[in-house]
Amino acid sequence: MGCDSLLLQNEKIICTECNHNLPFTNHHILEGNDTTKKFYGIIPIEFSASMLYFHKKGIVQNLIHNLKYKKHQEIGTLLGKWYSKDLESIAKIKTVSEIIPVPLHKKRLEERGYNQVTTFCEALSNELNIPHNTSLLYRSRYSKTQTKKDRENRKEITKALFDVNFTEADYNKHFLLVDDVMTSGATLEACAKALLKIPNSKVSIVTIAYTLS
Ligand SMILES: [Zn+2]
Repeated sequence: MGCDSLLLQNEKIICTECNHNLPFTNHHILEGNDTTKKFYGIIPIEFSASMLYFHKKGIVQNLIHNLKYKKHQEIGTLLGKWYSKDLESIAKIKTVSEIIPVPLHKKRLEERGYNQVTTFCEALSNELNIPHNTSLLYRSRYSKTQTKKDRENRKEITKALFDVNFTEADYNKHFLLVDDVMTSGATLEACAKALLKIPNSKVSIVTIAYTLS
C-alpha cells in the first residue's frame, strides 16, 4: 500500500522497506510541534499531533490515496493501532471524553461509501478506550473551495461549513478531533470552532498526516 511492491508472506498492508522509511513526526513528544503551531492565536487547543509527514510522491501519499480512494480502510486500522501507542504518552489524552471524526458531506459520503478516517478513529477508540462519536459534528454546507489557502477564503470556510448537534449531555467534554491530512488547518479550525460552541468544551487534534508547507 505504500509502494506497490508485492508483499512477502509475513508482511501485511505495508512492506518492510516502507515500514522502515515511514516519516514519523514524533509530535507526541514535542509540545509546540508544527501541528500545534498552526493554531496558535487562532483557537485554543489542548494538544495536537500528526502521525506522519506527507510528502508528494512518498509512501504516506500512497497510503492516504489507497485509504481515501481505493477502499483500503484496513490502512486506517493499522495506523490507528500504531499511533495509539504514541498517543498514550501524552498526559492530556487521559482527559479526552470522545473521538470526533471530521465529517464528510452526505453527498461525498454517498459517492465514496465511507469516511476515510472512520477506521483510524475506531482503532484509536478501541486501543485508548475512548468513545467514538460520529453524530455530534456535522457538515452544514458542501464546499469545493476547501483547498484554497489564502486568508480570506480560510475565514469564509471557517464561518459556514460545520456545526454541532448538542444537548446538555455534551457540556464539559474534551473532544479529540481527527482528520486524515492537515494542510492549511482550515477544516480543523472550522470543526474546532463548532465544537467550542458547546459550553465548557475543550478540543484536541490528531491527524494521520501533516503537509510541510
Ligand atoms: Zn513498500
